[in-house]
Amino acid sequence: MVFGAHGDDEIIGSGATLYGFSKKGVEITAVTFTNRETAYARIEDKDKAVLRAKEEMATANVILGIKKRVILGLPNQGVVNDRETFQTCTKLIREYRPEMIFTHAHADQHRDHRAVSELVDEARSKAEENLSPDWGTPHRTYAVLYFEIFDLFAKPHIIVPVEDSWLEKKLEAMRSQTSQLEVLKGIEYHIRGLAMVRGTAIGSKYGEAFQISDFHPSRAQM
Ligand SMILES: [Zn+2]
Repeated sequence: MVFGAHGDDEIIGSGATLYGFSKKGVEITAVTFTNRETAYARIEDKDKAVLRAKEEMATANVILGIKKRVILGLPNQGVVNDRETFQTCTKLIREYRPEMIFTHAHADQHRDHRAVSELVDEARSKAEENLSPDWGTPHRTYAVLYFEIFDLFAKPHIIVPVEDSWLEKKLEAMRSQTSQLEVLKGIEYHIRGLAMVRGTAIGSKYGEAFQISDFHPSRAQM
């Protein structure tokens, strides 16, 4: 499962890895918290922002192999770690029962990203507790991995070696977010440059870096 505040975060943060997993037959569910209604670069695009975001997300699903996307429809810059959203996240984890979760890092300049990171860590932990069976059967997620958007990790914990075709799919998915290309000028350079830096660190051409959440321990698989 991948939890992102805005519909392009999972592309920037983990698009190549998600594509690599989908190629191996792993079922990927994305949860997007907002409608992206403030992410327009020109005033004349304002009214179309939500509809365009929806279409662009659907396109990215196909490119990256995301099987299902749940859009919570919260306001941009308005994601908060409140009780209702926390319970929603807990229920979604119990419903989709991931082995692994990708999401934002706690230390992120964007308020929505920080809120999502906290919500997901707490919900992952709550989802495995033996309570509220009406929210779904308790589920233990093996690990939560944080991805990078624009705040880069000084010390990544794990770097996924990214094949050329995976990076191309990530870039294709990013290009399909046409409404964001003006908002995030130079995003393709950022993605390709960072992929090279992260790859170099592990002897690979390209890479995608993650930090492992220590919010809640993983249960060792023996
Ligand atoms: Zn974002």
